[in-house]
Amino acid sequence: MLAGQPIIILRDNVERTRGFEAQRSNIMAAKAIAAAVRTTLGPRGMDKMLVSSTGDVVITNDGATILHEMSVQHPGGKLVVEVAETQDDEVGDGTTTATVLVGSLMEEAESLLAQEVHPTIVANGYQLGMEKALSILDDLAITVGFGERESLLKIADTAMTGKSIEAVKDKISNIVVDAVLQVATENDDGTYVVNEDDVKIKTQVGDSMNDAELVRGIVIDKKRVFEQMPQKVTDVKVALIAMPLEVTKTQVKSKIKITTSDQMKAFTEQERESLRRLADQIAASGANALLCQKGIADAVQYYLAKAGVYAIEDVKEEDMKFAAKALCGTIVNKPEELTAATLGHAEEVAEIPDTDLTVISGCDNPKAVTILLRGTSQLLLDELERAVYDAARVVQDAIEDGKFVVGGGSVETELQIRIRDYAATVGGRVQLAIEAFANAFEVIPRTLAENSGFDTIDKVVALRKAHADGAKYAGLNVYTGEVVDMREAGVIEPQRVKTQAIKSATETAMLLVRVDDMMITQSGRPGAQ
Ligand code: ADP
Ligand code: MG
Repeated sequence: MLAGQPIIILRDNVERTRGFEAQRSNIMAAKAIAAAVRTTLGPRGMDKMLVSSTGDVVITNDGATILHEMSVQHPGGKLVVEVAETQDDEVGDGTTTATVLVGSLMEEAESLLAQEVHPTIVANGYQLGMEKALSILDDLAITVGFGERESLLKIADTAMTGKSIEAVKDKISNIVVDAVLQVATENDDGTYVVNEDDVKIKTQVGDSMNDAELVRGIVIDKKRVFEQMPQKVTDVKVALIAMPLEVTKTQVKSKIKITTSDQMKAFTEQERESLRRLADQIAASGANALLCQKGIADAVQYYLAKAGVYAIEDVKEEDMKFAAKALCGTIVNKPEELTAATLGHAEEVAEIPDTDLTVISGCDNPKAVTILLRGTSQLLLDELERAVYDAARVVQDAIEDGKFVVGGGSVETELQIRIRDYAATVGGRVQLAIEAFANAFEVIPRTLAENSGFDTIDKVVALRKAHADGAKYAGLNVYTGEVVDMREAGVIEPQRVKTQAIKSATETAMLLVRVDDMMITQSGRPGAQ
């Protein structure tokens, strides 16, 4: 009975792309996104200036930041952006590498599909290639111990090269390594773990980038609550109080009838007395600084100032917890709970003149530290902050895993050669897919050469030759164009940066290759029915 009748399965506001068109659309999107970030790759990569609809300006070299600001709409493209985001969350660095790699894998897939290799074979070959790549990385990885400061410094350096902060790189690397080593804790089996939240990064506009410092303590965005308090206190004992310091209101509603002025006086006297007691209790505990999560009544402020206590009110809960860790103190509810043991310790608490910042520094063995960055403009500071964040994360990765690999296009060249060798042992159509997978890695050395203004073919050939001759750490010196031992040159990166980039780039490429039908519901768009 249905003969001749069209059968309607999809609503008419669904836009459908099928077969080769759908594949092409995803390949184009991946390539376009990779192309957008590839010029930033490596030490000589360029920066991007991004302007939001509200006019905010961001200048950056960071892949994840660029893609985030671009707000990609294409559904396949969004998956590629996710690769960069995952990379940023999991390892903190290598976002451009991961994105460029997906683009390259999709480009290779495009030519496989054109040769009529079935998408499942492509995906299968990519899967095999990825497993091989990860085992080659294990083989190439070099061990780094907790105390190997020189290597950790180089890892931090490599993560920061190419950001617009070259000038202060050495200083910052030292600060970053000190910070991460300070907060690392040892597991029972001798490995280390770092909680990234224990290293806080704070920025302050003014002064030069050279004035960056590691604060063994905390920086709070607040001034002291009352002008008459000392601007600076040394040998500090810090009370951390969660509840407000004011007269406690009675729970039961009661009316107090005051008829004479004497009664009024007595009442305020009494109130004043109890506020005074709060301040006395704090001073009596030995505290000469106070962080209060809630408000501090004027009278309490007055008495605290008289006792020479530096106090801040309305400190954020997050900062309170961080302070407890950084100063080795305990947060209490009320002043009467304060004891010598609950107080945090530091060398100094001071308000930085002309700013709204309080710095509590010089704690003996803090479990949380703050990196205070300074710079002449917020734009510069934002990029500095991203670079420091990357550096802290790679040092953390290296400490936790104890493994690094060699950069400058070195691992990628070695991977390409070894995976191609492996492909030859597999045979069949899937061999083509594994070879394509291997070739995708060439994009990294090629892009490093291109961004540094060298002939890409020359450099890629020279690199491959060096590796074929057994120089497994050979990479590209992006300043001179020479092929050099990158391990000696100190261009090293945590293994995790590479494993994560390879895993998520491959998995996303596999996912996209197998899509041959895209259905996009248009109802969200203006003008759709
Ligand atoms: P990503 O977002 O992927 O980290 P980067 O712009 O930081 O991108 O570039 C990382 C690449 O640059 C890596 O392949 C790394 O090995 C390489 N690289 C970093 N420093 C150097 C250097 N001094 N010489 C050559 N290559 C370097
Ligand atoms: Mg990087």
